[in-house]
Amino acid sequence: MVTATGGWTPTAVGVQLQGVGVSPGVVVGPVARMGGDVPVPPEGGTGAGPAAEAEAGRAALEAVAADLEARAQLAGGEAREVLEAQAMMARDPGLDGQVGMLVHEGRSAARAVYEAFGTYRELLGGAGEYMAARVADLDDLRDRTVAHLLGVALPGVPDPGHPFVLVARDLAPADTAMLRRDRVLALVTEEGGPTSHTAILAKAMEVPAVVACAGATGLADGLPVLVDGGSGQVVAAPDDRQVTAARARAEARQAARRAAAGPGATADGQLVGLLANVGGAADAAAAAAAGAEGVGLFRTELLFLDRTDPPTRDEQAAAYQAVFDAFPRGRVVVRTLDAGADKPLAFLDLGQEANPALGIRGLRATRRHPDLLATQLDAIAQAAAGSQAEVWVMAPMVATAEETAWFCAQVHERPVQRAGVMIEVPAAALMAEAILASADFVSLGTNDLAQYTFAADRLVGALAGLQSPWQPALLKLVAAVAQAGQALGKPVGVCGEAAGDPVLALVLVGAGVTSLSMAPVSLADVRTLLGRHTLQECRRLAGLALAAPDAEAARARVRMATPLLDELGL
Ligand code: PEP
Ligand code: MG
Repeated sequence: MVTATGGWTPTAVGVQLQGVGVSPGVVVGPVARMGGDVPVPPEGGTGAGPAAEAEAGRAALEAVAADLEARAQLAGGEAREVLEAQAMMARDPGLDGQVGMLVHEGRSAARAVYEAFGTYRELLGGAGEYMAARVADLDDLRDRTVAHLLGVALPGVPDPGHPFVLVARDLAPADTAMLRRDRVLALVTEEGGPTSHTAILAKAMEVPAVVACAGATGLADGLPVLVDGGSGQVVAAPDDRQVTAARARAEARQAARRAAAGPGATADGQLVGLLANVGGAADAAAAAAAGAEGVGLFRTELLFLDRTDPPTRDEQAAAYQAVFDAFPRGRVVVRTLDAGADKPLAFLDLGQEANPALGIRGLRATRRHPDLLATQLDAIAQAAAGSQAEVWVMAPMVATAEETAWFCAQVHERPVQRAGVMIEVPAAALMAEAILASADFVSLGTNDLAQYTFAADRLVGALAGLQSPWQPALLKLVAAVAQAGQALGKPVGVCGEAAGDPVLALVLVGAGVTSLSMAPVSLADVRTLLGRHTLQECRRLAGLALAAPDAEAARARVRMATPLLDELGL
């Protein structure tokens, strides 16, 4: 743990830390911590003179830019773009000019870089919501350059030369892009929440992970730790008995995952659709290979991001059909464009908003741009006509029954099997019966539903506790929606991260949810655990969670009442 004065307080051997398990599995391995905080360079110069300092500053910025570019090549995908943008910032002539000016006023190169980034940071912070969010990337760039100039360890992923448990305060995109599956045994972060970058990455990499784990950065490098990504426990220097038990759990989980097959169902045969969340055809193929019965959330906005014009109807139809074709006998639930807030689109001017997460986003945005929605619905209908999949369509960020009726009417003008909406806003959950009067189905987006229920921004790691899908207040809303679905005989799915937690999945089924949609990697665990519990048992677990006073108690009580978790290594 780094204290306020910059000192480091080691976490004692044998201590058990408790965080939030976000990617299941149990491992034991030595700690390697992310490069520590970079010191603030002292004011004043080094005596080398302005010309030498300016040259040192320029060389350091160039070295950092080249390193980021090399990482970008290795990373690929979205991470590549982030890293390339950072490299471009490092080469900005304005930054070099600022450093030159400051060294001529007597600063060292390190101090000049540090101060120049400060000016840049202020400019960016004042340039609107989206640019303000890039400030973290800028701070990362400053730290890398200053570390280079001071000769201290670069912040970033360590390379101890053997597999390790990576311990960090939090993980930035530049760090995660460098993680190697054959080196990283588990991730443990002090910050971050269940929907954070770390959680999503860990699931994609299939490594156990624990987030929001207070005291984790106090674990010394090389210290063996036991990480349980299911229960969220991290044990410093575990004894032989603990290690043997952990290994047995890891083997049990692998064996159970290999045995998981067939349609999702409880032990007594209640069918529960086990579906996948996908962003495009490659994900859909991987989901089908992982045993998904269909797609419960097709996030179509990935096709629209990074574009200056919207994709044409034919372009969209081809992309949708590629996903439908991965599930010739399954259901594919397509979500219409979820633009706005954290997903800004260059061609969609939504105006300046003080609080974009509470502004014109999701269906509110596409309703104001009816051509965009009409083209998308036409493209979905066109692709559905050319495929065997059962195509359902739903709208994101719906708040009222009136919006639902309007949207479903648009969908029903086309030959699409079912029209529904996502329940991500508490008002919609409370009005589920009225919404289901016109919707054929609903799907609970628990990530946003948690954010709006607790007024806790899902991008802020420090609020992880409030965003926990185990919060009884959130589960009460889920249960109310499920009851409305049962009363009207209409399907109610869950497609937020909550659905991929195998233990929470039992609670959701017990609360009356009819399908679960998740990252493909979670399917086998959910299928196994569900198949070992009757509907009655799931209902009892739901009762325990709903009656708990808070998220930790809900999780602890349900885990305690689920004895099979040890046997299955979850
Ligand atoms: C959600 O909010 O739970 C959801 C599934 O949608 P997204 O994560 O894409 O906002
Ligand atoms: Mg959402």
